[in-house]
Parts: sequence; structure tokens; C-alpha cells
Amino acid sequence: MSTFEAVGGGANEIVNEIVLACRALAARGCDTGIGGHVSVRATGEDAFWINAFDRTLGEVTVDDVMKLDYDGNLLEGNREVSLGFEFHAGVYQHRSDVSAIVHSHGRWITALASLARPLKMRHNLCCIFHDDQVLSPDDRFESIGPAIETNHTVIIPWHGAITVGATLARAAALHATLEDQAQLDVTLEATDAPEIPEHLRLGLKKLVDDQAGYLEQTWTLMRRQGQRHLEAHPTG
Ligand SMILES: [Zn+2]
Repeated sequence: MSTFEAVGGGANEIVNEIVLACRALAARGCDTGIGGHVSVRATGEDAFWINAFDRTLGEVTVDDVMKLDYDGNLLEGNREVSLGFEFHAGVYQHRSDVSAIVHSHGRWITALASLARPLKMRHNLCCIFHDDQVLSPDDRFESIGPAIETNHTVIIPWHGAITVGATLARAAALHATLEDQAQLDVTLEATDAPEIPEHLRLGLKKLVDDQAGYLEQTWTLMRRQGQRHLEAHPTG
């Protein structure tokens, strides 16, 4: 039995889900080095669970997840506190509707960020981001915090992106979808490919998100992908 299988229930359930999300994001192109983070709010506490700084998303195991308070004090776990914890703490304090945050330097997300513009609407799935993405002025939390407002996606110019959600399922699936859509967008950048007309976007967003449940379905896919990654690379 792996360490992963030996853990279950309560807080350990959250830890396991974070590991699965990290591994799935790695399997989907977001494992580009040190610096990716997945966090989940600790219910009823001024605290959150987050993976350690010094492992890539594809290396994260249950031993690499810890609980921090909003000042960055280690409450559970025994790993290196991320330099980026302040952003997570800031968003959780600012947005009561957010229970999970994903930040990565995914390959295509980073390419999009280097264009220093929001995602263009070039595919029906992209409409999930319609009227729900923002480009931050720069990569300081003092800039990102006010910029996020009620949005669920922040493109950080020349850096990467952040997605947030009411659940880990939505934050993680949104991030994986952003990576896919960034690939399409950046690949088409040098062409005359048209964007989806403005008047069609809201309807497509409702169809894909509300009716088809695309993000929830993507999360169940990601859990399978994460599990396979974990089984192939149990220690990262
Ligand atoms: Zn970063």
C-alpha cells in the first residue's frame, strides 16, 4: 500500500485531493519547474492547505502538503513554506466565495502570459472564461489582490496564471482548461483566426459550464489522470 492509499478521511481527504490535483496538472502540462501551487481553504479556520515550495507539481506527495495560517505559520506538516503563501492568504481573506486556488507556470499559460493580454475567445470551451478573467498589472500581490475582484482567472503578465473556485474541482479544472485554451490561442496568434462573436459567448458559457458541467466532468477526468500519475511515480 502506498503512502497515498494509507491516508483517508477528514483533513487527510483534503491532502489527498491536493496531491491528485497537483499530479493531474503535471500530467496536463503545468509541471514546468518549482513554483506551482494548489491550495484549499481549511473550513472554519483562518488557514489553508498548500503544497510545499521545493517540489514540482509532478513530485508532490501527501508528505509535501501542509497547513498554514494567514500569517504563514506552519500548523500541520513539516515542509518548507512557500514564498508565495501571501497570495493565497490574501485571496482567502478577500473572497469568501473562494475555497481553492491554483497557480502555475503551465507551458502554454506562460506563453499566453508573455503576450501580456487576456485569453482570446477562439473555442466554445473558452467561453467559460467569458467576462470572468482579468490581466493583473504586475505580479505583486498588492496588484493582483485588487485586480481579481469577482473574477476566477487572473493572467499574470510575463509570469503565469491563477485560477480560483468555490471548490478544488472548479479551480483545478479551470486551470487545466486555461492551459488547453492558452495553447490554442497562442498557436493561432500569428493567424487571422477570428474570435467567437461577442453576442454568442454568454450562451456558450452557460451551455458548457451550467448545462454540460464541463468543469466538473474535467475534474473527474483529472482525478483519474492524477491517480495514474501517482501510480506511475509514487514518490514523484
Ligand atoms: Zn508563480
